[in-house]
Amino acid sequence: MMDAQLTLDWIADRAERYNTDGEIVSRRPDRSLSRTTYGQMIGRARKLARALVGAGIQRGDRVATLMWNHAEHLEAYFGIPLAGATIHTLNLRLHPDEIAYIANDAGDRFLIVDDVLLPLYEKIVAAGARFERVFVVGAGGDGSYDKLLAGAPDLALPKLAETDALGLCYTSGTTGKPKGVVYSHRSSLLHVLVAALPDSLDFKRSMTLLPVVPMFHVNAWGIPYIAAMVGAKLVMPGPYLDPPSVLELMQNERVTCAAGVPTIWIGIRDALDAEPGRWKLQPGIRMVVGGSAAPEQLIRDFDRLGLSLLQAWGMTETSPIGTVARLSPELEAADEATRYRTRAKQGRPVPLVDLRVCNEDGEVPRDDKTSGEVQVRGPWISASYVGGHTPERWTADGYFCTGDVARVDSHGFIQLTDRMADLIKSGGEWIATQELENALMGHPAVREAAVIGVAHPKWSERPLAAIVLKQGASCTADELRAFLAPNFAKFWLPDAFVFIDAIPRTSAGKFKKTELRQQFRDYRWT
Ligand code: ADP
Repeated sequence: MMDAQLTLDWIADRAERYNTDGEIVSRRPDRSLSRTTYGQMIGRARKLARALVGAGIQRGDRVATLMWNHAEHLEAYFGIPLAGATIHTLNLRLHPDEIAYIANDAGDRFLIVDDVLLPLYEKIVAAGARFERVFVVGAGGDGSYDKLLAGAPDLALPKLAETDALGLCYTSGTTGKPKGVVYSHRSSLLHVLVAALPDSLDFKRSMTLLPVVPMFHVNAWGIPYIAAMVGAKLVMPGPYLDPPSVLELMQNERVTCAAGVPTIWIGIRDALDAEPGRWKLQPGIRMVVGGSAAPEQLIRDFDRLGLSLLQAWGMTETSPIGTVARLSPELEAADEATRYRTRAKQGRPVPLVDLRVCNEDGEVPRDDKTSGEVQVRGPWISASYVGGHTPERWTADGYFCTGDVARVDSHGFIQLTDRMADLIKSGGEWIATQELENALMGHPAVREAAVIGVAHPKWSERPLAAIVLKQGASCTADELRAFLAPNFAKFWLPDAFVFIDAIPRTSAGKFKKTELRQQFRDYRWT
């Protein structure tokens, strides 16, 4: 066979030649919509690549983006790697000090930034970030992104190798300091091919995709490249991620599949329930959910609303797709309770991901009881962090230790019970907080629940549940304890339930338990 290098050229060429008229819709900061096509987008991406090379970018250099989801960000997704450089998507929701640390740690040379994010850019620079050149999207004049493209010289782009770096993303730092992960052309291409498979996320040309997940969060789960490869219409929400704005786009652009973290979908469910019949959505829209656990109740609620939620699990270190909770025919034929319980698990590994769950006795049996840490291996799993941090996260036999705790059922589905950093040790026994949270979010009055361990004089730690109630709903600690009691050992039941207005969030919309633990550090047990 030929030695065809797996580089992004394959997707760019295909999008340009065969998906030429496929539409890309972007919401602009003034809320207007702009429309372009894959043909035009790739044409501009090639100009960006030539302009970057003309401006002195060399193979292996890093070019950062500070942008929302829109067509220009997609151009950068293609143009920067086609120039032989690495696209480093900066997470604009982080603190400016953190963004500056990350940009410097990565050694980013240039930056492409949205004009509406210039105030943030100023803060990043004040915090010590240094970029040789900055190009502004949405602005005119010198230093504008459009001017950069207009001046693109006529030169040949470098020939890429599949082992070249394509992208760079930092973990969102839910449990520790952000760490950088580099994706290669090869890893990205293989990831896209497998993620699009029918039994993975099942993406095809006839679909209209809405990545609500930001393009600065783990490559928007690969959706920009998948969409370009299959030629699906792509709808980009820009800065507007509130439920009415997302629903308006879903309705008007006839979206058939959207992707985002559970927080987004909890908001969408509440908006749909608050105004039944207001939004006319395509029947059977699929929502891909990952980033944190999708509670079973949310899956049931969406079925009731005529939408279908598909859960996937992954990490920055896994590009990100690792597992998908798609029911096989024998599970489709199971009773309703089993089907929902299984869809609320994280699922089975996709092809080319080797996954095992290990504890101190070795790999755990598929008994749905014994838990251990999830470890993974494969062509799109990171082999190291930028700067070589924490090499102990890789085993001697080549697996990456995820820090996620899970058990495995007889079908090979993993069920995440917690992150190792969030487990509670009470009287020498472990308590898994995510299991409690998922159960609590099944109570009709509960909108969100986060469980943390708080220091206890007798048990060393005891669980405290922070609860956000649905609007207008009420319930007591005793009711919640009684609700959990049939399904959990007595010592698992939280000793305290505190009712709060909002649970602190990370930049990716996950529960920020470090902050919650800080908030309740001095909680007085009665
Ligand atoms: P961070 O570790 O900073 O949150 P990532 O954004 O890479 O960085 O998040 C990866 C983590 O998110 C996983 O290790 C896991 O704990 C969690 N996660 C991702 N998908 C799911 C899911 N479907 N269910 C539960 N947890 C998930």
